[in-house]
Amino acid sequence: MSAIGKLLRPRSVAIIGASADMAKMTGRPVGYLQKHGFAGAIWPVNPRATEIAGLTSYPDIAALPGAPDAAIILLGAERVEPAVRALAEKGCAAAIILAGGFAESGGDGGARQAALQKAAGAMRLLGPNTIGLVNLTDHITLSATGALEVGELPAGRISVVSQSGGILGALLSRAADRGIGFAKLVATGNEADIDAAEVLEALLEDEATGVVAMYLEGLRKPERFRAAARRAAALGKPVVVFKVGRSEAGERSASSHTGALAGADRMFDALFRQLGVIRAETFNDLIDIPAALVVGKRAAGKRVAVLTSTGGAGTLLADAAGVAGFALPDPDAATAERITALLGEDEKPAAARNPVDVTLAGVKPEVFRAAISALLASDAYDAVVTVVGSSALAQPEVVAGALAECAAGSAKPLLAYVSPQAPHIVRLLNGCGVPAFTAPESLPAMLAALQPRAPLPAMVAAEPLALPELPEGPLNEAEAKALFAHFGVPVTREFAVADAAGAEAAARQLGGKVVLKILSRHIAHKSDVGGVRVGLTADQVPDACAAMLASVAAAGAPTPEGFLVGELARGEVEMILGFHRDPQLGPAVLLGLGGVTAELFQDTTLRLLPLAPADAEAMVGELRAARLLAGWRGAPACDTPALVAAVLAFARMAEALGERLVEAEINPVFVGRVGEGVRAVDGLAVLRRG
Ligand code: ADP
Ligand code: MG
Repeated sequence: MSAIGKLLRPRSVAIIGASADMAKMTGRPVGYLQKHGFAGAIWPVNPRATEIAGLTSYPDIAALPGAPDAAIILLGAERVEPAVRALAEKGCAAAIILAGGFAESGGDGGARQAALQKAAGAMRLLGPNTIGLVNLTDHITLSATGALEVGELPAGRISVVSQSGGILGALLSRAADRGIGFAKLVATGNEADIDAAEVLEALLEDEATGVVAMYLEGLRKPERFRAAARRAAALGKPVVVFKVGRSEAGERSASSHTGALAGADRMFDALFRQLGVIRAETFNDLIDIPAALVVGKRAAGKRVAVLTSTGGAGTLLADAAGVAGFALPDPDAATAERITALLGEDEKPAAARNPVDVTLAGVKPEVFRAAISALLASDAYDAVVTVVGSSALAQPEVVAGALAECAAGSAKPLLAYVSPQAPHIVRLLNGCGVPAFTAPESLPAMLAALQPRAPLPAMVAAEPLALPELPEGPLNEAEAKALFAHFGVPVTREFAVADAAGAEAAARQLGGKVVLKILSRHIAHKSDVGGVRVGLTADQVPDACAAMLASVAAAGAPTPEGFLVGELARGEVEMILGFHRDPQLGPAVLLGLGGVTAELFQDTTLRLLPLAPADAEAMVGELRAARLLAGWRGAPACDTPALVAAVLAFARMAEALGERLVEAEINPVFVGRVGEGVRAVDGLAVLRRG
């Protein structure tokens, strides 16, 4: 068995620094293990006790009767390192370190943490600064969390990985209160060794785990997380993540817009989207979404029926779902008939609409049950949500029983919104396979999580392309475009020239109207210094060159290297295509509505490299600008396939350049009509030595 496997299912546990006083934090782990029914060996270690909670207590680690599968170290920070060393020598597979005062505390905490890793050798570490782990499937609690004070914790098929110990305890007690059971809960703390991604990996292979909920502050090993998320998708085990740090601003890149548009949190959004990981928007969703998913039923689409016996609550739910883009069609004739047949004359009209209001008659469980069954059976709906109103308070078991029966008889999701403050009803329902929630705002998130998911695109390794001769540092526009073109991004036809005479000659060669720009590796935004003139004739070029040089000098910008004379390109829509390197998650590409309004509208989307063709297509599709590209209000449709190809070509370039690429951006890319292709009209790149 792997070390993490032993940590999750140890046969023997050493508790280093266990106290005989169960009221103390250091007394809890032994008490919890016993209380929750651990069947293996418990070995307390305490030099001042011979017996703890009826168990033999050992004076030190060397005196243990064997190599423990797992150990919990309850000692203060300064005494942890020798204990880690002694456990490693004893042959312990993995140790959990509860103490704080390591990397999280700054100062020399980082060095203390590094010393722990060294002392551990081949032994695996969970923590430090963790609350430990809980395996409810097998009644194993390797934790000091006070949430374990609760006598009976329901076991279930949701597992939790949390980088915060406090949050683990909060999830455990909140979910238990709602009748939602967990399989395993692991707090990774400072992640000196075992990190959240590795725990995710292990949990995916756990048969008792059907859904994984994660509370993340950051990712130490994004690659490992990506691999694990792909594995989760392949296994069909949903991963739901609540990630804090939404307000973190992105690091502004030196000269491109891309950095400003690619905030740190947006990168996580991109990562999760790319991997099919569900992001919980609110902390509450981190319980509600897994609870909805763990039942195992999925909605085939977005059509939802709301059944209620009280108008107000039904409207709350219908509004919440409607605003989030779910459809609430009225019942089809046959279904309406089935429901109205259950009701009195004056109640009938309200039953033919959605929300389906069965008014007072619906208070009778048999009416309620028949109406839900009719809605679940209707081809008009993909999911049914029912309101459990105050009337259920009188007979909670009957109502829960009726709902459980309906749920069992249908492959469609049935969700229950419990309107009154009635935790016991919520518990009953969750316990019998009907996900019950208490905030109307939870509904859209739950429904969205139940929607069908496209399989993750297969990653196909691209043909390696030889790199051209490349300069270092910032490139000028001509060099940048040559680089992009090398990888297959279409660029404007143009000439780099040294002076006005060269510019005029180039303009004559191109013919017709041209674009004149200053050529400079030091000026990233040419228009800002009067360095771009669009639509000049060759005759106008010499004067324009002189005016441009004067304007650049007046702006205090460095003297340009020369001029760029290019064809006048045409496009229907201007896009931005950029490269961004996130310090935590790595390289990514950004696509969005470009031009001068890029930062105003912020209509952009990101994907991490490497990029699959389906990713590039999805990027275009999820922009609001997708509707512009498709031909907004009679405008001609644009060459979207050419844009997708350009995104892929740009991504290939970034992949090929690897660490050498510091910045790259095309703003704008002109997208022509169908069949006209796209053109990179500007280009910016910064390289460093490979
Ligand atoms: P900047 O360095 O200011 O971003 P750009 O090269 O992007 O300069 O040019 C500014 C604007 O001029 C572009 O957004 C585009 O609208 C227009 N433009 C630039 N080059 C061309 C071209 N070859 N054909 C048509 N329009 C162009
Ligand atoms: Mg530009």
